[in-house]
Amino acid sequence: MARKLMIAGNWKLNKTVGEALELVRDLRRLLSQVRDCEIVIAPPYTALYAVGKAIEDSPIDLAAQELFWEDSGAYTGTVSAPMLAEVGCKLVLVGHSERRQFFNETLESSGKRAKAALKAGLRPILCIGETLKEREANRTMEVVAEQLDAGIQGLSIKEVARCVIAYEPVWAIGTGKVATPAQAQEVHAAIRERLRAKDNGVAESMQILYGGSMKPDNAAELLGQADIDGGLIGGASLTAESFAGIVKARK
Ligand code: PEP
Repeated sequence: MARKLMIAGNWKLNKTVGEALELVRDLRRLLSQVRDCEIVIAPPYTALYAVGKAIEDSPIDLAAQELFWEDSGAYTGTVSAPMLAEVGCKLVLVGHSERRQFFNETLESSGKRAKAALKAGLRPILCIGETLKEREANRTMEVVAEQLDAGIQGLSIKEVARCVIAYEPVWAIGTGKVATPAQAQEVHAAIRERLRAKDNGVAESMQILYGGSMKPDNAAELLGQADIDGGLIGGASLTAESFAGIVKARK
């Protein structure tokens, strides 16, 4: 079964509601004809509801950047999976390296977040990837395997099949340093191989995205690799032209 391309924009801590609506209006104009790609945007929480309304009847799906695993309760400052589903989210990022770097999120909690997302009908985009130090110590495959295992731990194979994996080498995020297509493909193939040990058919069907300084001018080559099924885009998702440029970059 051919895997559908997914291009997902992570807006991080950017865009007021007004700016978000402006960006969405331009994206709708530039992407209205696209049929062969799942287009996803992840605005900040404050803009989710308004953006969700503004992309109704469009080919764009809404995602959140983060969630907490409890549905409700005394957990100040957090948002739950049912709340995200209520405002129209279809997907949610889980375990982004910035969450781990700045907010002490752990690999174990990625699994809990993924489980909670699935329970509410959301598809988790599970982010994994090595640091520069780990790559230089030849530990990339080991680290990525460990993160993948932690993220899908406790999920049934049916639940795993609903997940999206994003391979994001930490050294390539927001740095302008992009993994070469061969470097990225090597890790993507290893991730799929590890999933194959759980279920061959599920491994074949799952989308594995690359993230890390993807731009319109390097996207085609990355997206042309056999096991790269899309991109998770940070900086280049903040203008309609560059994000649409990536969606349309395939050869
Ligand atoms: C990201 O944060 O997921 C990301 C890939 O960022 P950038 O594209 O800016 O490197």
